[in-house]
Formats: sequence, structure tokens, C-alpha cells
Amino acid sequence: MIRKTIYPGSFDPPTNGHCDIISRSAKIFDRLIVAVGANPEKKYFFSLEERIEMLREIVSEYDNIEVAHFDGLLVEYAAKVNAVTIIRGLRALSDFEYELELALMNRHLNSDVDTIFMMTDERYSFIRSSLVREVAKLGGDISDKVPKVVENYLKKKFS
Ligand code: ADP
Repeated sequence: MIRKTIYPGSFDPPTNGHCDIISRSAKIFDRLIVAVGANPEKKYFFSLEERIEMLREIVSEYDNIEVAHFDGLLVEYAAKVNAVTIIRGLRALSDFEYELELALMNRHLNSDVDTIFMMTDERYSFIRSSLVREVAKLGGDISDKVPKVVENYLKKKFS
């Protein structure tokens, strides 16, 4: 039996924190789908296409990772692609309440799909996409916070 999981997020843009969760999950599961959120209610900095392109380049060396996108209910998407679990990353206590709420709601909607949390690596505990964007906008060095492809995308946006 193939164990498939999804790692959903905005990835606006992907950071080294996301990449760490991606590579660790890919070791545990047979197949990982990095599911990029395309919520029409949400305003993203990078377009869906850009976020997918960056992630595809990041995971190009793995043969068990796929990058896809979803809108609507996450648990419905998980069921559609036969994923048994949802991976989420936890940084600080401040993530916990939001993630707990989300996980409980998802369990209420579909109790067959479980959420699994991975603790961030301490090197990445203060990395979040919005902060990376702010620093990049002001011309700060973010080269140790994001993969090279993302650094280049950010440079292009703010040049
Ligand atoms: P969302 O808008 O769904 O929160 P994000 O792209 O911000 O999407 O995050 C996707 C997932 O990755 C979330 O579970 C988030 O907690 C986790 N994550 C984000 N940054 C890090 C990091 N630096 N280390 C570990 N997990 C992270």
C-alpha cells in the first residue's frame, strides 16, 4: 500500500523552513504532494503559477514529490488524491492555536484524514514568508532564509 500525504500551504514564497518540512516528509511517506493554496478570497504576493514554478524547481531532485494546487476544502482535496494525512509545520507556540483549530475542523469534516505536525528545525524557527518578503523589499539579505530560486524571484519582483 502506498502511503501518500499532502503538505498544504500558501508558500508565498517557499522558505528554507518549508523545504525542511518537505524533505523530512518525503523520507517518511512514499509520495508527497505539495499542495499550493489558491484561495480566491486570499490575496497572495506571488501568483499561483509563480509559487508552483518555484516549488517545482525546489523539488526537482525528488522523484516522490509532486507539486499541485487546490482550492476549496482541503479535506476534500485530500480524499480526491487518496492522501491519508495532512502535514503541517509548527514553529512557535504562536502557531499552535491556529493549527489546532484547523486540524480539529478538518477532522470534523473528514475523520479519515489525520493531521501530522512536524516541529521546525531550530535554524528555521523564525522564518516566515511574510517576514522574508518584507526584508527582501527593503533590500536586506535573505540568502540564508530561502532557496536560490526564491531569492532570484524576490530580486526580480523588487528590482
Ligand atoms: P498557510 O497560509 O497555510 O499557513 P504557509 O505557507 O505560511 O501557509 O505555511 C504552510 C505550513 O508550513 C504551515 O503549517 C506553517 O506552519 C509551516 N511553516 C511555515 N514556515 C515554517 C518554518 N519556518 N518551519 C516549519 N514550518 C513552517
